[in-house]
Amino acid sequence: MSEERLSFQAEVSRLLEIVAHSLYSEKEVFLRELISNASDACDRLRYAALTQPELSADDPSLKIALIVDKDKRTLTVVDNGVGMNREDLVENLGTIARSGTAAFLNRLTGDARKDVSLIGQFGVGFYSAFMVAEKVEVLTRKAGEPRGWCWESDGRNDYSVSEVEVGVPARGTRVVLHLREAETEFLEEFRLKSVVRKYSDHIALPILFGAVTDANKDPLEEAKPINTASALWTRSKSEITEEQYKEFYHHVGHSFDDPWLTIHWRAEGAIEYTSLLFAPSSRPFDLYDQKRSHRVKLYVKRVFITDGAEGLLPPYLRFLRGVVDSEDLPLNVSREMLQNNPMLTKIKNGLSRRVLSELAKKAETDVEGYVKFWENFGAVLKEGLYEDFEHRDSLLKLLRFHSTHGDGLVSLEEYVGRMKEGQEHIFTISGDDLEALKKSPQLEGFRARGVEVLLLVDPVDEFWAPSVGAYKEKQFKSVTRGGADLSKIRKTEEKVDDVKPEEAVLTKVVALFKQSLGDAVKDVRVSERLTDSAVCLVADEGDMDMHLERLLKQHKQLHAGVAKRILEINPAHPVIRRLADLIEQDGAASRLEDAPWLLLDQARIVEGETVPDTAAFARRFATILEKGLTL
Ligand code: ADP
Ligand code: MG
Repeated sequence: MSEERLSFQAEVSRLLEIVAHSLYSEKEVFLRELISNASDACDRLRYAALTQPELSADDPSLKIALIVDKDKRTLTVVDNGVGMNREDLVENLGTIARSGTAAFLNRLTGDARKDVSLIGQFGVGFYSAFMVAEKVEVLTRKAGEPRGWCWESDGRNDYSVSEVEVGVPARGTRVVLHLREAETEFLEEFRLKSVVRKYSDHIALPILFGAVTDANKDPLEEAKPINTASALWTRSKSEITEEQYKEFYHHVGHSFDDPWLTIHWRAEGAIEYTSLLFAPSSRPFDLYDQKRSHRVKLYVKRVFITDGAEGLLPPYLRFLRGVVDSEDLPLNVSREMLQNNPMLTKIKNGLSRRVLSELAKKAETDVEGYVKFWENFGAVLKEGLYEDFEHRDSLLKLLRFHSTHGDGLVSLEEYVGRMKEGQEHIFTISGDDLEALKKSPQLEGFRARGVEVLLLVDPVDEFWAPSVGAYKEKQFKSVTRGGADLSKIRKTEEKVDDVKPEEAVLTKVVALFKQSLGDAVKDVRVSERLTDSAVCLVADEGDMDMHLERLLKQHKQLHAGVAKRILEINPAHPVIRRLADLIEQDGAASRLEDAPWLLLDQARIVEGETVPDTAAFARRFATILEKGLTL
């Protein structure tokens, strides 16, 4: 069978360029990557063999081996896992198949020194082999298939794939590294052993070491174990170091940050399972993927079953990484059978309860860390408020908000604790930008009374708040909808120039607005919530809140006509007072018509909305400006 030469995908070439020329000092991480791949390959075979036992029957005990040949200067990583066929080789070792490596490439700065340090942080998977090898051969045969393949490359522009001609290689994969001159250390047993201890001791499979000593002996047969070979989660917490947890997290989550929270426990009783879960310290790039699937691995009695089993975790906990190992599920459970399995539902409930209570603890003990966690994952957790009634109360306790009271985050508990006398609601305002939101005119009256308003900036807020309704019997209420309900709360400081026109005159001002604006607004009324601005818009009590409406429009979810708004006017504002004076003087209201229109357009602009008739706006603006331009 002839050899075929193929070029690497452009991104791979770029990556290899960096890898080959990197002066990265901890090149030993290449071994971590290759062992991690070998272990994944064994897990996948073990799962496939549950339904097709013949796949592993000839060589059932799965293992990994490191074989050195000092004469040939090769280090070979051997596994008897699932192996690869020709397509797999081209797909997996010729392109950037995995997201982590792609993330690495996206983060590249062009500054060689910075980029090199990213290698250690991200790991670059299989390709990291070229940090220490001038040539890599991959000999592999896929379980259940008769043909074996050899992939070979010097890590430059191309690679070759050919069928292995002499005999058929054993099932699984051998990655043969032809070490560079300077990397002789990776032929030494003690060196390899220490790297395995450092990065790979969480791997449950035996990792053996063997050396080629005699051409007639098979080094694999003589190889001796150099790791602990028990799944990390089965060990007791006291025997596991933080470093080991971290390495395991990197391996199991294909993640590169540090875990912020590690939860390791065994559930005993009606159902038994062990769980080792991590909350990342940074936000995974696919958190808002439409599928909302999680990445926690399900094991049954130490056998890997599947990634992201539907129903194992609620979607609002999808940021977690780790494993769940059940003692009760049948070993031959298929991925399909898992759906709607009552046992799984029980596990899910147990996991949710535990995770939420651990988060509550962290919120108390690591306030700063919790704020970061909340910034990363808060919006996702909020989905649980309308999806998981059973844990709603625990979730409500975890909520944190930006508010009009300072820069820190506030919990509902704290908010309710500092509500003003006479205040009956939990006030909220929503928008997409925190800084813009803080300047909303609708907040003025609340500020003047020292009433705190929660600033909601996550789109999901529009959904949970109406569904939850209230916290400790205090209703959530948007300050941009309905009445302000501020009459019972005293202003902290009454402004000196807080003089308003008389009631009768005000009625005339409102009439002027109504008459001029006609159908453009639903109503015009005197505002309780303004102190500094002349006007603002609000939605009527029964209508959709303005921000939600804008959000739905943006996503083309709203086809029906937009509800009309209410324009509120501030009787104490100089412009409104001036209008009142003019009406008093000669009652020729129709000559004042431009003012209500300009104020309405101004209110729209402040809301971040567009002015529907820009030409009319410009004309009115010019007229008023002209009249006002005096020296
Ligand atoms: P990742 O392990 O994150 O997917 P790698 O670059 O380490 O990325 O490996 C790329 C892919 O190559 C793997 O996903 C896997 O499909 C395949 N692969 C690598 N090593 C092996 C192996 N020893 N056995 C089977 N498949 C492997
Ligand atoms: Mg890998």
